Amino acid sequence: MTESVHSEAHGGGLGARLNWLRAAVLGANDGIVSTAGLVVGVAGATHERAALLTAGLAGLLAGSMSMAAGEYVSVSTQRDSEKAALAQEKRELRERPEAELEELTELLEQRGLSRNVAREAAVQLTERDALRAHARVELGIDPDQLTNPWHAAWASFVAFTVGALLPLLAVVLPPEAWRLGVTVVSVLAALVLTGWSSARLGAAEPSRAVLRNVAGGALAMGITYAAGTLLGAAGV
Ligand SMILES: [Zn+2]
Repeated sequence: MTESVHSEAHGGGLGARLNWLRAAVLGANDGIVSTAGLVVGVAGATHERAALLTAGLAGLLAGSMSMAAGEYVSVSTQRDSEKAALAQEKRELRERPEAELEELTELLEQRGLSRNVAREAAVQLTERDALRAHARVELGIDPDQLTNPWHAAWASFVAFTVGALLPLLAVVLPPEAWRLGVTVVSVLAALVLTGWSSARLGAAEPSRAVLRNVAGGALAMGITYAAGTLLGAAGV
């Protein structure tokens, strides 16, 4: 609670950074869980290191590219609609400046300013940079800080890859007898860390988030291991 108040008091900058950080942690979490499920499932079916490495690497690449593509599409769409809203705002400011000044005045009044002060503030903001004022107050957009879809895509790619590397290395590097144990323990430990960090960054209570996160990962590995073992035993 104190954290959200704190970040709001300092404007959008810190809040936006926390959101990015949280998205990175969640991306890494996805990489850990999906790749862990994959390699543990394959480890249930086969003892061959090459098969584990192939499956883990394919999972890492497929997952990170799919995350990056999804992020690219979603941020591009958001950016398009923000640009369209800004263009419309620009047109309205040109075509009916008086109505726009009145609109800004009313929005500022709604935020708690008296009529006269709101009018004065609207006049000054309009003189300085009308479009920016309308973008911020009316649309909630900072025209200088539209999210770049390539940055967002790259960040998702890196976050997922970092997460996916953990189960991949944990299953491939140790001797066969240690393989599963090392993977399960390191994955669950990492999920404690990502669950805790994402809860803290979202200003939520960490212990329940950690529990859910670890349970989700354990369930994913348990199910794929069971499936892999059945397939392996059936000689598929
Ligand atoms: Zn406007």
